[in-house]
Amino acid sequence: MRAMVLEEARRPLRAADLPEPKPRDGELLLRVLACAVCRTDLHILDGELDRPKLPLVLGHQIVADVVGEERRVGVPWLGWTDEKCRYCLAGLENLCEHVQFTGYDRDGGYAELAVADERYCLELPAQYPAEGAAPLLCAGLIGYRALRFAGDAEALGLYGFGSSAHIIAQVARHEGRRVFAFTRPGDEEGQTFARSLGVEWAGGSDEAPPEELDAAIIFAPVGALVPVALRAVRKAGEVVCAGIHMSDIPSFPYELLWGERVVRSVANLTRRDGEEFLALAPQVPVRTEVETFRLEDANEALERLRRGEIHGSAVLRP
Ligand SMILES: [Zn+2]
Ligand SMILES: [Zn+2]
Repeated sequence: MRAMVLEEARRPLRAADLPEPKPRDGELLLRVLACAVCRTDLHILDGELDRPKLPLVLGHQIVADVVGEERRVGVPWLGWTDEKCRYCLAGLENLCEHVQFTGYDRDGGYAELAVADERYCLELPAQYPAEGAAPLLCAGLIGYRALRFAGDAEALGLYGFGSSAHIIAQVARHEGRRVFAFTRPGDEEGQTFARSLGVEWAGGSDEAPPEELDAAIIFAPVGALVPVALRAVRKAGEVVCAGIHMSDIPSFPYELLWGERVVRSVANLTRRDGEEFLALAPQVPVRTEVETFRLEDANEALERLRRGEIHGSAVLRP
């Protein structure tokens, strides 16, 4: 099968012809229809997440048909858990001590075929074409988990308006929230895109919002945005860091945190997040803006994502 393979960090993926993967007990053999590109894939490529299996097939937003069955499934980042550690038993399987992630500990979806543990595959809403559903599986899911931590915030700031934010802005609007979008300074195209999705205000991350925010979610991997967002939220407001990796957070005066403001991270997802979000998405209905690439063009898709040139989500089609 054709696949794009990471052999070593900080080197482009290599187009390879690999043997067909063999599903073990409890695993499904999958024909990949679409796999969305995630910012996490860039962190793995760049060696910022530094313990991938190698060589590795990246990709954890997989829409696939089960080989030999009339069934389509989604494969998210959470690929396997032990179901018995203290976190799993407490309903926090996203923090499992022996967790395996798709496209990191297990081969993912930058390929024609993949295998996945059936227990972690998600049922997909029927309305979506494969490439439109793929970004729901991480950008949507992680964004949804982050949004839940924002509680009942009415005025919600989204820092970094990429794949996740473009989905979550729609969910937040559906829930009756008012959304304030922050893009890279000067990214007017991104701000126009955000406004087209119903956000009330869009500006650069160097700008102050027109009013105090009740909560903020930071999707951009930029630690300097933590004090910026804290400055923008009201007392008892929450700043949720949704990315898996961030540059260092600069020191800041305690005054910014004072007033019972909260900073927290969001890590991974649970299957329950997946079930809830994939039931909610078609009700909104969430519309994903995708730019499709051939599997062989995965490196180009990753570099365009790095440069902030993708409005919405990049999706590979094998
Ligand atoms: Zn566990
Ligand atoms: Zn992801």
